[in-house]
Amino acid sequence: LARLRHFQISLPDLERTLFQVPETAKVREWSHYYTSGAHLAGTNYSQVQWTADKFKEYGFQAEIVPYDTYLNYPRDHSLKLLGVNGIVRYEAPLKEDVLTQDPTTSDPNSIPTFHGYSANGNVTATYVYVNYGRQEDYDLLEERGVDIAGKIVIARYGGLFRGLIVKGAQERGAVGALMYTDPGDDGHVTLVNKYKAYPDGPARNPSSVQRGSVQFLSTAPGDPTTPGWASKAGVDRADPHERIPSIPSLPISYRDVLPLLIELNGMGLNPNDLGESWRGGMREYDYSIGPSTMDVNLYNDQEYKITPIWNAIGRIDGVIKDEVVILGNHRDAWIVGGAGDPNSGSAVLIELARAFGELKAQGWKPLRSIVLASWDGEEYGLLGSTEWAEDLAKYLDANALVYVNVDGAVTGSHFHADASPLLNTVVKDVIKRVSDPKGGYVYDHWLQETKGRIGNLGSGSDYTVFQDHLGIPSIDFGFSGGDNAVYQYHSNYDSFHWMDKYGDPTWEYHVTMVKIWGLVALQLSEIEVISFDVGEYAHSLMSYFSNVKAKISRIVGESELDVDISGGFYDCPEVRGSLIRECKYIDVTAIDDVDLPDLKLGWWYISSSLRNCSDALDKLLDAASSFDAKSSSIKKQYFTDYPWFKGYKKLRLYFQIQELNSQYKQFERMFLYESGLDDREWYRHVIFAPGIWTGYAGATFPGLNEALDARNITNTKRWLDIITERISQAADLLSEK
Ligand code: GLU
Ligand code: ZN
Ligand code: ZN
Repeated sequence: LARLRHFQISLPDLERTLFQVPETAKVREWSHYYTSGAHLAGTNYSQVQWTADKFKEYGFQAEIVPYDTYLNYPRDHSLKLLGVNGIVRYEAPLKEDVLTQDPTTSDPNSIPTFHGYSANGNVTATYVYVNYGRQEDYDLLEERGVDIAGKIVIARYGGLFRGLIVKGAQERGAVGALMYTDPGDDGHVTLVNKYKAYPDGPARNPSSVQRGSVQFLSTAPGDPTTPGWASKAGVDRADPHERIPSIPSLPISYRDVLPLLIELNGMGLNPNDLGESWRGGMREYDYSIGPSTMDVNLYNDQEYKITPIWNAIGRIDGVIKDEVVILGNHRDAWIVGGAGDPNSGSAVLIELARAFGELKAQGWKPLRSIVLASWDGEEYGLLGSTEWAEDLAKYLDANALVYVNVDGAVTGSHFHADASPLLNTVVKDVIKRVSDPKGGYVYDHWLQETKGRIGNLGSGSDYTVFQDHLGIPSIDFGFSGGDNAVYQYHSNYDSFHWMDKYGDPTWEYHVTMVKIWGLVALQLSEIEVISFDVGEYAHSLMSYFSNVKAKISRIVGESELDVDISGGFYDCPEVRGSLIRECKYIDVTAIDDVDLPDLKLGWWYISSSLRNCSDALDKLLDAASSFDAKSSSIKKQYFTDYPWFKGYKKLRLYFQIQELNSQYKQFERMFLYESGLDDREWYRHVIFAPGIWTGYAGATFPGLNEALDARNITNTKRWLDIITERISQAADLLSEK
């Protein structure tokens, strides 16, 4: 009964301390520490040691957990524009400028510009501009007769994950890829009129290069040689090539790629033919597609090896040991600095550890265990978090309550949050209570800027394995955007100097993140009844399902099938009448991979599955609202009606809470499908996954939507049935006594 008596310090008192402890001078100091040396994955043991020591200093048990991962370090590269007879007309420096104002940029350990997991190669070919390198961009080119096979593509970075730009190009036969950030895409063009470029002002420095991983993140993150199992020394390893590119790629600054692009002026199609969205913000280049008449030579030499990376894991045991709250952030960076990505998060993590240490010194023992994780190898492909979670999958399945991620805690001034809908309410409650450095509360600004939107988790940071592979509800949040400065993402200019001067000059946003992260942790760890919102989850599923129905409507429209689906398929007289009668003579189970628009019968074939899914959702909605009602009533009785231990009554409530909590804890797991998504079985959540061709942006009902997008009715039906089973299972879980 230790649980009943554990409150030595009340939650409001804990929160008061958490508001008082964090200091701007301290986060600045931690940021300065982390940004003072190269910390590319697997290259800086002293920083993991320092991090683990800090955890210990602040009262955590701490350990360093290594994994042996397959990754690459840059050896050599070059990019040359070749004239007649192979004469070099221009050679790109592929280097960022050294700036006297910013010491990071002249650091002797400065890391070359390169792509994580890029293939080695030495290719000479003509080149084409492919806009953002999205599927729709490649498709449009194909439609207009531009063949990228045998060519090098030049893409601008945009919404989708860079590895998928390469994947798309490779699948269409391209032999190499160059990627640059167009000044039209990051506010530079507007800022440049008002501001100077960094370091004289907050706009993008023209030599700035976005490094980054080109792993095929939406297929599987983690070590590409150990998908689904931990990369420990001596384990079996798979061929990584389904998960990383086979054609070479290089990141490049817009200044360095411009001489190549200028050669395309007037060549082939241009944005007047393809649409204005193909035009970026450079004046010297007219955004013609090409191909070029001249060749470029792209050379990329990477050293690939299996090498250790190190996570630092801190832990404070709670009274309840099998409900663990995990807070994580990555420590590795592409560059010496990384003041925004990830070390604003790392500085915040250390300051939060210090605040927890202070609470501990005051006699606090958390109700639930709290784990702090400082991941290595995130940049290459979420290596540290993925290997750790694959390693401890059984333990986490049984014990993890929630994972709360902070990557770039502060790269701007607008708060954003993505989360499992179970956690939307916690996030909103917390930001209503934390002041914003701009004045008012974080919530007020966030509401105005986002219309109150908490997004779905896609991928691109360490929550992925927790949410999508293990079904542990997760959150990812931080401050980004706003017009105070252009964030110099994955470049040498994401430095301490940049942060101190433009990113967060008062360091107040860092402190604000300590409070938000800490408050979320306390709200989840210290309240007897777990603060999950199953009603919100059920409502979110309803809205994802209406999107599916709307999509089906559109497809039916395309198929020239005269069916009004507004009232549901099963109510459709055409389907019920003529088609079903016709169907009597057809063995529908024998239909395999039918082409949706061609088969009117198809709608009959899936109508019962759609109806079942819809019914299961109704059932879940009912179960969730009764469950939430029961939960609040028990909570009220426990805290208000029987605030003190009064024998039998309180004890009975206590057992009811245990029951509720175990239902809460299992809820998200109900949506896992052991066999995983089609062609990417590592992803096992049937509601959430990164979009297969977006990577960063999340997809809802991924299996189902992909089946619909492929117009594959058999698979559409299969996914509807898989989803229905899981929704029913979740409803049954909530209805258990
Ligand atoms: N945050 C990393 C990036 O955007 C993630 C890398 C990955 O997941 O492969 O580059
Ligand atoms: Zn990051
Ligand atoms: Zn990053």
